[in-house]
Amino acid sequence: MKIGIVGSGLVGATAAYAMVMQGVGREIVLVDLNEKRARAEADDIYHAVPFAEPLNIVGGGYSDLKGCRVVIIAAGVGQKPGETRLQLLGRNAAVFRVVIPSILEHAPDAILIVATNPVDIMTHLTARYAAEHGVSSRRVIGSGTTLDTARFRSLLARHVGIDARHVHAYVVGEHGDSEVLVWSRITVGGIPLEEFCKEQNIELNDAIKATIDENVRRAAYHIIEGKGATYYGIGSALARITDIILHDQRAILTVCTPASEIAGVPDVTVAMPHILGGAGIMDDHIPLILSNDEQTKLHHSATLIRQLITDLDTTT
Ligand code: ADP
Repeated sequence: MKIGIVGSGLVGATAAYAMVMQGVGREIVLVDLNEKRARAEADDIYHAVPFAEPLNIVGGGYSDLKGCRVVIIAAGVGQKPGETRLQLLGRNAAVFRVVIPSILEHAPDAILIVATNPVDIMTHLTARYAAEHGVSSRRVIGSGTTLDTARFRSLLARHVGIDARHVHAYVVGEHGDSEVLVWSRITVGGIPLEEFCKEQNIELNDAIKATIDENVRRAAYHIIEGKGATYYGIGSALARITDIILHDQRAILTVCTPASEIAGVPDVTVAMPHILGGAGIMDDHIPLILSNDEQTKLHHSATLIRQLITDLDTTT
């Protein structure tokens, strides 16, 4: 099965590398404005193939996306000195205005996975531009808080000393500062977290929760401070989302896709738990019951994103 990656910078190339390591798909095509970079990344990653899984990986142009089942979009421009968040958004929107139709011209049936930040807004725009080509928003998936949820689960798992796969917890809302860690619905082996901790004599107080919250919410800042960019975590998350689609696994992930309403906010895109399968997003979203406080925070988060979309629409 063929996968395209448009934007083969750090995130795009790392996603390709993760797929080679895990054997996701059969052929990967890297496309970038900088064609030389795309071909160089493809060659470099292809040299890992004999040590990993038998995949083919090549650099190419949009026409080489023909036949792709999934196309990941990790293309984008960086912030210029003195540039506002809205100006940066406007430039990335302009990139997507060209990139999305170019992808769909050659891979009209592909499922689109968006990774470019701010991912909620870029996913909203992707769905809008793709709709002009008859593509349902169910085929447009933003990586959302997939990685934040993984971070939350792994920190909780470390605290309780249990394999993270047996910890169920979600981060919803914006992939960013206003995201909501859903503390009220955490289970470990099917048992509510508080109960589990009490039974196992594990301390869980507000200070511990605040530290975990800070380490999830601020993770990207700490990593960027230390090494300038984040890409291994998101690259692995993109490989996992792709695998779920290719194998119709019906897994539940906190991805984002346009919704008619979230927490009272209309026409917005923020992450919620969704069932993912071969056709893309398979549900409106899992009806996660939030506490009043979490619901208020989600409303705030969705309002921020809605406002940015409105601001972008009025300035462009
Ligand atoms: P990140 O860390 O998010 O991956 P990078 O700057 O490393 O950021 O990668 C972004 C990539 O997107 C770059 O390789 C850049 O050339 C590419 N890009 C920017 N604009 C376009 C475009 N219009 N079409 C395709 N690729 C693009």
